[in-house]
Amino acid sequence: MIYQNTLAFALEQDEHDPLKSFRQEFLIPQHNGKDAIYLCGNSLGLQPRSAKQHLKAQLDAWETHAVEGWFTGDAPWLSYHKQLIPTLADILGAKPAEVTIMNSLTVNLHLLMVSFYKPTTKRYKILMEAGAFPSDQYAVESQVKFHGYSVEDAVIEVKPREGEVTLRTEDILRQINDNAGELALVLFSGINYYTGQFFDLEAIAKAGHEAGAYVGFDLAHAAGNVPLELHNWGADFASWCSYKYMNSGPGGISGAFVHEKYFADDALSRFAGWWGYRQDKRFLMAPGFQPEIGAEGWNVSTAPILLLALHKASLEIFERAGGLKTLRAKSERLTGYFEYLVNGINQKAGTEVYKIITPANAADRGAQLSVVCKNNARAIFNYLEQNGVMGDWREPDVIRLSAVPLYNSFTDVYNAAECLFKALEATNS
Ligand SMILES: *Cc1c(COP(=O)(O)O)cnc(C)c1O
Repeated sequence: MIYQNTLAFALEQDEHDPLKSFRQEFLIPQHNGKDAIYLCGNSLGLQPRSAKQHLKAQLDAWETHAVEGWFTGDAPWLSYHKQLIPTLADILGAKPAEVTIMNSLTVNLHLLMVSFYKPTTKRYKILMEAGAFPSDQYAVESQVKFHGYSVEDAVIEVKPREGEVTLRTEDILRQINDNAGELALVLFSGINYYTGQFFDLEAIAKAGHEAGAYVGFDLAHAAGNVPLELHNWGADFASWCSYKYMNSGPGGISGAFVHEKYFADDALSRFAGWWGYRQDKRFLMAPGFQPEIGAEGWNVSTAPILLLALHKASLEIFERAGGLKTLRAKSERLTGYFEYLVNGINQKAGTEVYKIITPANAADRGAQLSVVCKNNARAIFNYLEQNGVMGDWREPDVIRLSAVPLYNSFTDVYNAAECLFKALEATNS
């Protein structure tokens, strides 16, 4: 793809963008009476216009049917989630029975570790990326302590090489291999939240299994952003959140993937609740837990219908947009264009004022670019905010910017880069 650093080029790309109509389906925050340039979809995706209707429909069902809503109405609540599963399974590259919708992400990581972190005296270590999202670090820390181990002993972090920021796949695989006898679990994010690096999950799953460990993925920054093949890659489990690239609202509902090879595995422990009970027998309220076959057997509590309604509003858009393959094609071009423009600023400035630490290879990243500002980082970020460019700040000097293919345009990216350029002069005190 040959890019050009002109507004005319950006406008023309937008004109020919097969996904351009989807921008109208989202509510874009306003800045001085105009659409802000929202590049924070990696943190909180925008609200679909249809979210209010979906929510209202369920408030109305509650009003009309009250408790009968579980069994009657257009979409009885007892099976409401089933409408969402096919699209979600497509996004994850999973079989429908391998996917369930429940709880929030960190809670699900804990529940899944109850099943898939089963330390023994020989095999008790967890391998993860250094600099994982804090919640994942805390979850792992508390899990190993719960089993009586220390973090220093039981948690192995794969670190970048001296002078590097991202991880090399070969280093990840080597460390898995080097610790083969002791690893109970390999837990990796799909995309690192800080650098935006998209890991080779297939290779990690394979190496983890060869080492005799279970392999799980946290897909917070990957789900709805990059195509995934959880089933074929052989991941044992995964979880994600729906409020980042899946636009399902702040604190939106999470979900879990459990590979079908475990559906009949009675040796796996789990923390059970009635919503994971065999659906044909749940309301017999009998003693003795019998799980539903499939990922739904990991559910614990009553489905939160209002959160599911928001998730449904968003997933319907993914469905109509043609799923991740279509979105990814635009995403690669959008992010590639952004990278080209940022590199152009460095050329004009005659020095690398903005260092992109996200991998340059499109296959190794999603929508996000993490940009290190060499000078006046915080002032540059403030300048962007004051001028209607919404990114997000990570200490000490990183601005994360994500152009999301469902609602961001090439013009957004062009204007954001213009603002980054102007910020240099404005902050050059
Ligand atoms: C966003 C994010 C979380 C957040 O977890 P919650 O339980 O939803 O608060 C956890 N892990 C990763 C990797 C994330 O990016």
